[in-house]
Amino acid sequence: KKRTVVNFGPGPAKIPEEVLQKAQTEFLEYEHTGISVLEMSHRSPEFDGIMKETEKLLRDEMSIPNEFEVLFLQGGGSGQFAAVPMNLKFKSSSGSADYAVTGSWSAKAADEAKRYLDVNKVFTPMKPYTKIPEKSQWKFNADAAYVYYCANETVDGVEFQQPPELKYHNVPLVADISSNILSRPFDVAKHGLVFAGTQKNLGAAGLTIVIVRKDLLGHAESYTPSVLNYHENHKMNSVYNTPPVYSIYLTKLVLEWIRDKGGVHALYERNKNKSALIYDVVDDSQGFYYCPVDLSCRSNMNIPFRVGGRDGNSDLEKKFIQGAEKLDMISLKGHRSVGGIRASLYNAVSEEETRKLSEYMKEFMVTFK
Ligand code: PMP
Repeated sequence: KKRTVVNFGPGPAKIPEEVLQKAQTEFLEYEHTGISVLEMSHRSPEFDGIMKETEKLLRDEMSIPNEFEVLFLQGGGSGQFAAVPMNLKFKSSSGSADYAVTGSWSAKAADEAKRYLDVNKVFTPMKPYTKIPEKSQWKFNADAAYVYYCANETVDGVEFQQPPELKYHNVPLVADISSNILSRPFDVAKHGLVFAGTQKNLGAAGLTIVIVRKDLLGHAESYTPSVLNYHENHKMNSVYNTPPVYSIYLTKLVLEWIRDKGGVHALYERNKNKSALIYDVVDDSQGFYYCPVDLSCRSNMNIPFRVGGRDGNSDLEKKFIQGAEKLDMISLKGHRSVGGIRASLYNAVSEEETRKLSEYMKEFMVTFK
């Protein structure tokens, strides 16, 4: 039976149907083990095989250079907001780090980091978050432990088209790629560390992937909890404690799906076409739909927009969401901090599904404009 609901949720989000089907076939018994992955010891050779294969697929699909380690952790992106400062503070003699705040998630990361070090915001955050300031306005600190940015702001729909250029090249660049990992080509080598939760583009919640340059390991502050200590986890091949075995397995299946779809370049082309289907309707609506984000940094993954003008008309927005639900399109409500509508178009959302939304938007406008 084919599913009919189209899930535009921001995360946990749609997982490719082929992946769910494969998981279903293997649910009771994984290969010839006689048991489910859910029941498998994280120290068994079978699970070790799943971990190694997942890492290999990730390295291939993201072209991760050899000088980087891949860690499978828990605690989500939010755990990394604390782990990054605790593990990397050693790089700064003055105990400070640079943060580029371009949306709600980098703002949260900066707030959490303040518990552990001095946070220097490299520019005054633009509120509402609709634009990334030009290079000339970024003020870096030569003694920063690292420069932190969020590659795609899930709530605000602000996405970096390229990693930011740094002034001081010995300062490592840190990226939160939770909501755009493997949706577009991304140069890991320009970074010291990148991390992502897997619940948007890579499967289920529970797994947090950290990709870290080897020279940054082994200098965590002494108070760092072992579960957030990169070196401790690396030494134990990411089984310092019980890892989220099923989430890792699902990520392996999603990575196989990505490979079979032609990899990140093919997905990027598809994602550009998908987001254009929505942005084109917004831009051709003479203000009926309104997306506040500057053209230079509009996200391919999360598209926030208002219905009924710049500030949105709450009645129309309610009708819009209800009408969409009647047509089996769900989870379109914008984040409570920005309101309106948000369409999340992660890798698993197809062009056909996106077209269904854009057609609905056109019809809704004809009816209510
Ligand atoms: N960073 C980004 C960009 C996110 O979108 C999210 C979650 N939506 C987080 C971090 C936090 O992730 P988690 O809820 O897994 O801690």
